[in-house]
Amino acid sequence: MSCNKGVAWRPCNCGLKRGFTNERDAEKALGRAQAKRNRRADAYGTRRGQHIEQRYYQCDFGLFHLTSENRSSYATRTMKMKGAAK
Ligand SMILES: [Zn+2]
Repeated sequence: MSCNKGVAWRPCNCGLKRGFTNERDAEKALGRAQAKRNRRADAYGTRRGQHIEQRYYQCDFGLFHLTSENRSSYATRTMKMKGAAK
């Protein structure tokens, strides 16, 4: 395969479509999503109300997903899951 743009991902057993096999890929994808968000924010003049991925987490099936959840719901989830600490 020669198509190298973007970050490789695969469907995850948890039902989410974009699952990254390692933290580095998730982080790369997150960076891309945020760059896109910033460009769009400039165009609209505001960042409010945008549904854009802010962080990533590891799900029960071992893949990493991007999420637009805010920090508090993310904390709730990680406390429940454990083991995803850096
Ligand atoms: Zn998953």
